[in-house]
Amino acid sequence: MQNWTYEELLSVYNTPLLDLIYKAATVHRENHDATKVQVSTLLSIKTGGCPEDCGYCPQAARYHTGIEKNDLMSVEQVKKAAKEAKDKGSSRLCMGAAWRNVKEGKDFDAVVDMVRAVNELDMEVCCTLGMITESQAKRLEHAGLYAYNHNLDSSEEYYKEVISTRGYEDRLKTIDNVRKTNITVCSGGIIGMGEKAEDRVKMLLTLANMNPTPESVPINALVAVEGTPLEDQQKTPIWDVVRMIATTRIALPKTQVRLSAGRTDMSNEGQALCFMAGASSIFAGDKLLTTPNPDFVSDMELFNILGLSPKDPFADKCKPEIKEDIASSSDEKWSRPAHQIEKNLVATEKGKEARKAVKS
Ligand code: SF4
Repeated sequence: MQNWTYEELLSVYNTPLLDLIYKAATVHRENHDATKVQVSTLLSIKTGGCPEDCGYCPQAARYHTGIEKNDLMSVEQVKKAAKEAKDKGSSRLCMGAAWRNVKEGKDFDAVVDMVRAVNELDMEVCCTLGMITESQAKRLEHAGLYAYNHNLDSSEEYYKEVISTRGYEDRLKTIDNVRKTNITVCSGGIIGMGEKAEDRVKMLLTLANMNPTPESVPINALVAVEGTPLEDQQKTPIWDVVRMIATTRIALPKTQVRLSAGRTDMSNEGQALCFMAGASSIFAGDKLLTTPNPDFVSDMELFNILGLSPKDPFADKCKPEIKEDIASSSDEKWSRPAHQIEKNLVATEKGKEARKAVKS
């Protein structure tokens, strides 16, 4: 593992683009079969009504985005969706719930059952459920969870501009809790939220200097949804996406670099450059939680053109064994307790006005 300095990584990020792609493609080929792409399906198992204030997210209850709030899906519905995703070529199902954190009770019990059911279909199972305690992560491990996603989103400094209801340290604590199990870590961020190149590099620096490094790093290009504080953000230029993917590949040579949200705004040629620059995974299926995504057919057509094919499940790590269920607890002190949320809501509305004033 290389211990990166900020200056080193910034200099990688600022390498002339064609040289950067060439270097990243070389690192990619040294560490991976560059003809294989891991394909995941992201399923929203509980949509909308989230108490958090992530400025990019249409599922936050406080923003008026027209997203319908849905209760948790049933285990049977999830199993059906998983089978469909597997038949189409996905090796991983990532289940997302719009929660601040995992709470003990029937909903978490149901998620544990879902994890077990999808594991039994011989798929890699990932969850993104918000903040999680060590004992809850352990319970998911026993159910056969393969990966847990919790994104850093941006640099610690810029994070505060986008989210006020939980701190960066909470994010790191959740990743740490997952690391105390055998579950792999998926953590990345979003570009195009108004952050500077320095923020992108600082986020990558935090990820690249983790020991061990995350097994998966999703790079998302903001999908600006009407009604969110970031609704007026300009689309992220494809060159920024390619640059970010290439820098991520060089900083984290062994990691799955996930070309995630924003692909509907990218041409096939743009995506091809991302694969060249080291992207080794995509989310397939026409929806990414609540935002549009290219469908399976167009992705497979692009794979054919580029000579790529979907990676088999458990190619990087053995299938997790299902073990006896264990008790867990939500007893964890997060930096911003739920009772502060009302206060932060006001702060966020002010922040939204301030952001608009800066732009006009
Ligand atoms: S915690 Fe997740 S679902 Fe909730 S607002 Fe933030 S990104 Fe959206």
